[in-house]
Amino acid sequence: MARTAGAGHLVPKIAISPRAVARLKAGHVWVYRSDLVSAEGILPGSLVGVVDPRGKFLGTALYSSSSQIALRLIAHEPVADFHSLLRERIAAAIAYREPIVRDTNAYRVVFSEADFLPGLIVDCYNDILSFQILTQAMDAADIRETVVDQLNAKLQPASIVERVDPRVRQLEDLPPRSSGPLQGEKNSTIFTMNGVQFHFDGLEGQKTGAFLDQRENYAAAAQYAHGSALDVFCYQGGFALHMAQRCEHVVGVDSSRPALEVADQNAALNGCEIEWIEANAFDLLKDYAASGRRYDTIVLDPPAFAKTKRDLDSAMRGYKELNLRALKMLPPGGILVTCSCSYHVSQQDFLRMLAEAAVDTHRTLRLIEVRGQARDHPILLNVPETAYLKCVASIVR
Ligand code: SAH
Repeated sequence: MARTAGAGHLVPKIAISPRAVARLKAGHVWVYRSDLVSAEGILPGSLVGVVDPRGKFLGTALYSSSSQIALRLIAHEPVADFHSLLRERIAAAIAYREPIVRDTNAYRVVFSEADFLPGLIVDCYNDILSFQILTQAMDAADIRETVVDQLNAKLQPASIVERVDPRVRQLEDLPPRSSGPLQGEKNSTIFTMNGVQFHFDGLEGQKTGAFLDQRENYAAAAQYAHGSALDVFCYQGGFALHMAQRCEHVVGVDSSRPALEVADQNAALNGCEIEWIEANAFDLLKDYAASGRRYDTIVLDPPAFAKTKRDLDSAMRGYKELNLRALKMLPPGGILVTCSCSYHVSQQDFLRMLAEAAVDTHRTLRLIEVRGQARDHPILLNVPETAYLKCVASIVR
């Protein structure tokens, strides 16, 4: 590791409150803005030394001048050369995945804090890499260059495309940028997971991709699915395409027409027939449940209902409604695969909601598996925010 003790004098120092010191000592890596004692004159995106109120050195962090998360710790030591640390950590992230990523050429290569690279996300879709910058520090031109150089050196992609989240750039007070190719001519490709093929297109306006965090859950759902299957919130068909390998009839529902168009192309690519329905899932499930429809397998994978803690109550009502309606449509022996990607909804909350839905519909649910995000989206035990996906597979008795 290219860290030299004593080099810390080159970077500005920021003192943090005792509460934030305790948080870092408990293994977390974030310091909130309200816990900064002073950050006057510190440039946006700087590498800073973090000290306690008495000036004792605690570690090196990346500073954001606008986010509520003002500091993201990257090392407990002084960091002499951030560029070489970046290169090492990208190499380590790639090496971490070598033994654990299976049956796919699409996976997350770098997952921000969980790979000790806060603010950087890199996904691989066959021979195309897609990356996303989430913080001021990672957006600096020289940092971007090092990231791209190292990705090229280690993975030799045909192209690299950038995926921009305008809301994140706004929160980080960064100038607007558009999504699109950064390097290479090739913008689209076909990737495979669990033997199922998908289109990827990295050009703005036709952006496709996948919820890579569900990859291992697709395989689990395909294992349990049978009969007629309903994939609710299907996006580009992740669960539906997997279930089509085993089910007689598969229906995918989403409110996004562009997503369903890609889903249909994906179905053709795999030679399977799936019925795609453009609808509001809440309305559709209400109608279907009321009219006595039956499915042997139902997948629910809605968008995050609780974006903040304040949304928790209404989010839980949303999950409950969906799960109630799905349970009403499942016969004995039916399979429910139900997901939540809201970090603010804990696994415990989610299971409690499901238990209540089972009672309300007079169903007995037997849990087959309580699952989470795919292993290329690692979880830092002491940073609970890195764990967000719940996927519960159960069978109706
Ligand atoms: N299951 C998908 C990911 C789902 S993401 C996969 O594995 O790839 C959530 C999806 O919900 C998005 O495609 C979005 O278009 C859709 N969506 C959001 N609100 C909806 C609503 N009210 N009704 C139907 N679909 C909705």
